[in-house]
Amino acid sequence: MIAPDVDTRRLLADELAGKFPDARGRFGPFGGRYVPETLIPALERLEQGMRDHLHTAEFETDFARELKSWIGRPTALTYAARLSEKWGAHVWLKREDLAHTGAHKINNAIGQALLAKKLGAKRIVAETGAGQHGVASAAACARIGLPCTVYMGAVDMERQAPNVGRMRLLGATVVPVTSGDRTLRAAIDEALRDWVSDPLGTYYLLGSAIGPHPYPYLVRELQSVIGREARAQMIAEAGGLPDALIACVGGGSNSIGLFHPFIRDESVQIIGVEAGGRGAGLGENAATLAYGRPGVLHGCYTMLLQDQEGQIQETHSVSAGLDYPGVGPEHSLLLAAGRIRAETASDEEALAAVKECCESEGILPAIESAHALAGAKRWAQAHPGTRVLVGLSGRGDKDMPTLQTTLLAQGHS
Ligand SMILES: *Cc1c(COP(=O)(O)O)cnc(C)c1O
Repeated sequence: MIAPDVDTRRLLADELAGKFPDARGRFGPFGGRYVPETLIPALERLEQGMRDHLHTAEFETDFARELKSWIGRPTALTYAARLSEKWGAHVWLKREDLAHTGAHKINNAIGQALLAKKLGAKRIVAETGAGQHGVASAAACARIGLPCTVYMGAVDMERQAPNVGRMRLLGATVVPVTSGDRTLRAAIDEALRDWVSDPLGTYYLLGSAIGPHPYPYLVRELQSVIGREARAQMIAEAGGLPDALIACVGGGSNSIGLFHPFIRDESVQIIGVEAGGRGAGLGENAATLAYGRPGVLHGCYTMLLQDQEGQIQETHSVSAGLDYPGVGPEHSLLLAAGRIRAETASDEEALAAVKECCESEGILPAIESAHALAGAKRWAQAHPGTRVLVGLSGRGDKDMPTLQTTLLAQGHS
């Protein structure tokens, strides 16, 4: 996966010592800034602004206040008593489904919106695939009082009509993208183009731990609140650290947010669960870490789903939020260095996990999050009596149209 002469033990030591991203914005061989010349000054300005503000007492106070009073943090840690009984290990759920707007994405959105304001931006642009990051961005922009433009693939706008309505109610302008694949990939390209045309007045609010430096780092820092809370809650409420830590991986923001505060805890096994879709064939899944090879997408060198010629592949997943052919560069490093494992859960396993979680715990999880539950079930059955902490990244209300035509239509009721 990476050059055979690369010393992966050294890479892991550097990662655990907090040396990444380095001065070139790299996590070992991954990451960086593979963008047109015109974007470099904007990214450099963003990086400088981030360094000036992100870890100041003033920013942290503002961010903490929004996390608590607007998002409703800390989110609960729930002991899943009936799933634990069925699966044979102690299952704990970190409840990002309880966060305002229904998923973890809001942590990043309000954090970057606050940063945009500090940097003097006059408007915010964002991209969205399934619409969840668009809704989070629209809400965050309304909260801080900046206009918001969301680029969304024309195909996705049709598939995710309720989220388009939510964004518009929250005051955002939703722009259909009719170029390229007319989905998330093209929407990211459009948002970058908009940003370049006015890099001083506009702030680009990217939705996952992907893209050119400094976004993967910035998003990780903002989402790490999930793992910091969960780590303290496990110690206080579960009596100790988990044996395994499991989250779903799309672009990688909920997972890196949960994982990062645990990466130095050697006893904790860390597992990212990707969308196994319909199977291992090209185009049948969105399991980038499991089946990908390194390459460049959206300004970043990272694992990608591509064919022999390096063409980015179409992806498939029953969960729109996992349907992305790339993954964050830090995940690529953590996998290459052996600190995380990558697994897949198929569409069918994820849907079955939605049903099991609903019926056993009274929680309707997002189909994305159900991939992590399917991974947790596998772990629990293979490691009875252990403690497993699952990142429940969001709630499944948004998935009702899909659940109507799958679980409910199959007479699973
Ligand atoms: C968007 C989304 C994901 C996937 O995105 P990451 O950046 O990988 O976290 C996972 N779960 C939910 C509920 C989402 O909305």
